[in-house]
Amino acid sequence: MASTDAAEPNRRALVGSIRFVATLGLGLLSCALAFFITYEAAKAGLNLMGWYVNWVMPVGPLLVGLAASSGIALGAWLFGVRMSGISLAATLLLLGGAFFGAEYVAFRVLYPGGVADDQGNVLGFWGYFDAATRMIHFENRRALGLFGYLMRVLDFLAFSAGGVLGPLLLLVGRPYCRACYRYHRNSVLAHVPAGNEEGIAELRDTRSNAAQFTSNLIKIAPKETWEETARSGERILFRLSWCPSCRDGQLILEKLAGLPDQKSGRVLEQLPVPSRVVGDLLASQRAA
Ligand SMILES: [Zn+2]
Repeated sequence: MASTDAAEPNRRALVGSIRFVATLGLGLLSCALAFFITYEAAKAGLNLMGWYVNWVMPVGPLLVGLAASSGIALGAWLFGVRMSGISLAATLLLLGGAFFGAEYVAFRVLYPGGVADDQGNVLGFWGYFDAATRMIHFENRRALGLFGYLMRVLDFLAFSAGGVLGPLLLLVGRPYCRACYRYHRNSVLAHVPAGNEEGIAELRDTRSNAAQFTSNLIKIAPKETWEETARSGERILFRLSWCPSCRDGQLILEKLAGLPDQKSGRVLEQLPVPSRVVGDLLASQRAA
């Protein structure tokens, strides 16, 4: 995707920014969804943001965080925004806002008239948040005082773990086309027993010739044998990873040694495949 146009880098930066902003927009929508869930739960009497399992596992914050960030994950995938550096920092910032937003929603629903402290002063959200934090306790019912803030930090860590984990698991480390702003697609080409070194080398070396590669696939690892190979222990997974726009591709060899349904393993090699060959391979896969 080479271009001699001097305006090209500017245009690409602009397109990148628009996609990023659109992703954050979806993130805001999913935050609204998280608030809605928190609101409905609070109306039913459950404070999701304070939902712990076994007193120490902040399951509620984790789930609300997951919901809050689902739009980011979806947007990053749809618009091909690369999850790294700035985008993860923006996600964390958004999640920070969403965390207090969700606490606020729960407070408003659970205590519509505010709460009064021991002296009868009516507390607003921050006063309530501070008092509630200091009153956090374990099974023995002794309030933690200032140490309650440690539990809040734990809440937020769980909240953002739920939030960042989604996009991270989905997108980080996935092959990405910088020219087209798109994540690569994947398709499995073959499962080959690890012992078949000759066949593996032959496949690897013919990757630039679609016709020969395809006939080698049929010869060395026809689809009917994949299941048996997957059950046989150590095997090499051949994957084609390709940009859905420009078809720039990679042949990825991974070593699998686990259960038959293992989907990915240790990457042994990543070899470039010309876009013309990617097109031919995909066409022959569809025909098969
Ligand atoms: Zn591309």
